[in-house]
Amino acid sequence: MRAWVEVRLDLLRENAVAALRAAGGDAGLVPMVKAEAYGLGMKEVVAALRELPAPGQPWAFGVAAVAEGERLRSHGWDGRILVFSPVSPGDYQAAVRARLTLCLSEVAAVERLAAAAREAGLVLPFHLEIDTGMGRAGLDWRTAAEWGHRIASIASGVLRWEGSYTHFHSADEPDLGPADEQWERFGQALDRLPGITPRPLVHAANSGATLRRGGYGGDLVRPGIFLYGGRAGPGAEPAPVVSVRARVVLVKDVPAGSTAGYGATYRASGPERWATLSIGYGDGIARALAAGGGEVIVHGRRVPIIGRISMDMITIDVTSIAGVAVGDIATVIGADGDEWIGIDEVAERCGTISYEVLTRLGSRLPRVYLEREPGDALQG
Ligand SMILES: *Cc1c(COP(=O)(O)O)cnc(C)c1O
Repeated sequence: MRAWVEVRLDLLRENAVAALRAAGGDAGLVPMVKAEAYGLGMKEVVAALRELPAPGQPWAFGVAAVAEGERLRSHGWDGRILVFSPVSPGDYQAAVRARLTLCLSEVAAVERLAAAAREAGLVLPFHLEIDTGMGRAGLDWRTAAEWGHRIASIASGVLRWEGSYTHFHSADEPDLGPADEQWERFGQALDRLPGITPRPLVHAANSGATLRRGGYGGDLVRPGIFLYGGRAGPGAEPAPVVSVRARVVLVKDVPAGSTAGYGATYRASGPERWATLSIGYGDGIARALAAGGGEVIVHGRRVPIIGRISMDMITIDVTSIAGVAVGDIATVIGADGDEWIGIDEVAERCGTISYEVLTRLGSRLPRVYLEREPGDALQG
């Protein structure tokens, strides 16, 4: 293989257990598997997480689109699937057919779902999002007294109000004050809602709030990035799940003055040895990584990326390492020997977040699923 993504399913499960432990034990787990489980492969991630020993079995899986929920059904998951984004009116019937639980953000959405429930002759569950500062979805926390009763009456007899939730905008920041304030607003809104039996579940916590605030004591937690190895804020460091490897496909000795890459932005100051890796921005490795001082690991040592990243190739300077040969494996993300390049390091160098680093990993990179250390696979 020219380049690939390794996914450690054992460490994925370890992170899920750590998240649940942080949440205090009796919270239900809703792993977020939207965007193909942050680019790692929804089918395999779901297969790994559904095997978690009790009480870790997911209460539901979270997606962002009806089509993602349908795909998850086709992978054989028969349990709850929550769709955590507003969906367009034309998608309600498909959602009902696939038995997806919609998360609703406005009174009109409750009316649409009630109509779909009547048409299907079913009582359908829904979760209601309460906007406490994120702005993109949910009913305004300040006006809960107005919409709460309307929604309860529209739902009566046709819908089951299963959960109420909010979403934090800054739970991964050093200062948790804004998250605490959102939790406070959420509580005020819940207090103004009509009494419903059975009491709807309450949930709020993404990875940051799960790891750093114990999920605020909600009934469910909804971690995403932490499961996949992304830091969820200061001190919330998961086990690394993802590695990205690429082959050395060319090694050459160049004289001083040789230039590398589009724009010839790099020039050798003396005789150097360069290696070409078979991976590029067409595989989702951002061009910004080179400008940000990006490095890769070869033979257990860090070496710099030189020049601009091409669509299919990256050039590195291996002058400092003896014996690099065609066929060797370079690590763009992950560990090799004592060195390690995490997704948060790569994100920082690219001026982005770990979420984007993962979801950008291209379809040209096969995903290789592992249950343990790859052993001596890196010896070439
Ligand atoms: C994506 C998402 C999450 C997970 O967030 P992380 O920061 O990845 O843990 C939780 N809840 C909702 C509503 C989301 O959209």
